[in-house]
Amino acid sequence: MRIASSLATGAKSLLENGLSPLELEKLPKVTGKELVAGIECAVCLDEIENEQMARVVPGCKHVFHVECADTWLSLHPRCQVCRAKVDPQLLNSSENP
Ligand SMILES: [Zn+2]
Ligand SMILES: [Zn+2]
Repeated sequence: MRIASSLATGAKSLLENGLSPLELEKLPKVTGKELVAGIECAVCLDEIENEQMARVVPGCKHVFHVECADTWLSLHPRCQVCRAKVDPQLLNSSENP
């Protein structure tokens, strides 16, 4: 099985870069207990437990484990669930006067 190649062909947008570690740090972080119980991380398909940290995708509000989000988003600037663009520019807007 060549899983990697099927993932590559699915990603048509070759010009998109993933997020940098700095940009990843700007994504909101929550703990599992702030979320609806039993919510699943779409990257690893595991439940996000109360004591685990998760990242929220701005805009669509999908959540992933911090490690899963960082791994995925450092490669693809899109939500793994709905493909919404994760735009780090949006994260700066709240800082504007
Ligand atoms: Zn996960
Ligand atoms: Zn999403």
